Amino acid sequence: MDASILHDNAYYLMRQSARESAARSYPRRFPMAVVQAQGCHLTDADGRRYLDCLAGAGTLALGHNHPEITAVLCDVLQSGAPLHMLDMATPIKDRFTSDVMFRLPEGLRNAARLQFCAPSGSDAVEAAIKLAKTATGRSDVVAFRGGYHGMTQGALSLMGNLDPKAGLGALLPGSHFFPFPYAFRCPFGQGGAATERLCIDYLEQALRDPEGGINLPAAIIVEAVQGEGGVIEAPAAWLRALRRLTQELGIVLILDEVQSGIGRTGTFFAFQAAGIVPDVIVMSKAIGGGLPLAVVAYHERLDQWKPGAHAGTFRGNQLAMAAGSATMDIIARDGLADHAAQIGAYLMAGLRDLAARHPCIGQVRGRGLMIGVECVDPSGPRDATGVHPYGPQIAAQLQQAAFAHGLIVEKGGRFGSVLRLLPPLVLTREDADTILAVFEAILPQATFEVVP
Ligand code: PMP
Repeated sequence: MDASILHDNAYYLMRQSARESAARSYPRRFPMAVVQAQGCHLTDADGRRYLDCLAGAGTLALGHNHPEITAVLCDVLQSGAPLHMLDMATPIKDRFTSDVMFRLPEGLRNAARLQFCAPSGSDAVEAAIKLAKTATGRSDVVAFRGGYHGMTQGALSLMGNLDPKAGLGALLPGSHFFPFPYAFRCPFGQGGAATERLCIDYLEQALRDPEGGINLPAAIIVEAVQGEGGVIEAPAAWLRALRRLTQELGIVLILDEVQSGIGRTGTFFAFQAAGIVPDVIVMSKAIGGGLPLAVVAYHERLDQWKPGAHAGTFRGNQLAMAAGSATMDIIARDGLADHAAQIGAYLMAGLRDLAARHPCIGQVRGRGLMIGVECVDPSGPRDATGVHPYGPQIAAQLQQAAFAHGLIVEKGGRFGSVLRLLPPLVLTREDADTILAVFEAILPQATFEVVP
């Protein structure tokens, strides 16, 4: 280890808080300075070890410092290949393009175009929206409550959560929000299968109503599994109905796979479980093999924008493309999407067992290694569908207790009531048992008043 590293978390945290922005977020929840990272595990400056179920917000599909990715990066660095080339052609990019194209669903694969973006999910969302607006000549966009598409002004305007938009006027005219089929807290007070039917009927009526006050949108943007919104899976039938509706009305359907894509939910893209083919797919996070990269794949008939319509200096990160190609290969070779589905199911089964014994867990849900544990306040009154109020304090307590036990889990969902697990796809059975053991240990620490 580098001799200049001080073995003192407090030193680094103190300097960080003195010099970095008030907008910094993760260090407030996870006060550590990480010095080593391998697979699913981290070591901080004090020598404490953690199991990392945040993994760069879902970026590190193969975990930290996967030896084969490290070798690929070293090879590129020593090969004399350029590191950055704007959006110019290179052999590394040519291969990455083939690798992404090959994984697109049939129906798009042979008619797709790729737009390389500045390396963030937000910028790729901006590009996707611009593409759809240019191709349709329309200006409105429909998004869903609870959705998360990024922090730039355009992407932010499509975010459900109002907190990051407060005071920014970012709810631009032209962004419309519709209920997402969140059956556990049904926006129509129903629950179960009625939720998805009501959600799609409501959207369809609004879009077809000549007096509905909403212009026909250029695009509808959706996550097949909402991530930041609290790990809420869109039911397959709802996604299929959304595809039918957008096709009938000539609306561009954008699937934001920034978090759910690249094998995390058991299929390469999460929407594939519904068998739909979107018009546009937004990719970032894991697509760069842990390095910054973002790309939009779309049907060639939408390719109507002009040269330079979406530019950006860092669109040609060759290391990220090489790491991304290798990551896709390893995920396929090692069956990691299937593994994510299996180990995720195992983890969810264990968490559901715990939920049955701990009333502060309202629901355990998700798909593959995108798992949410919704905390509820069992001392609060049940709603019409029998669900207790949100439990944000309980989620916060559990997050801190987990951290104290060496487990890093993020929060999300309404009021931050959902604990979210986004571990690397290489999570082992032993790691899963560690996670369950930590939950078992911390759940009794959640404090709430039990009403008889
Ligand atoms: N879309 C989704 C679904 C995301 O989860 C995120 C990031 N959490 C983004 C877009 C934005 O990506 P970035 O933070 O890289 O801009």
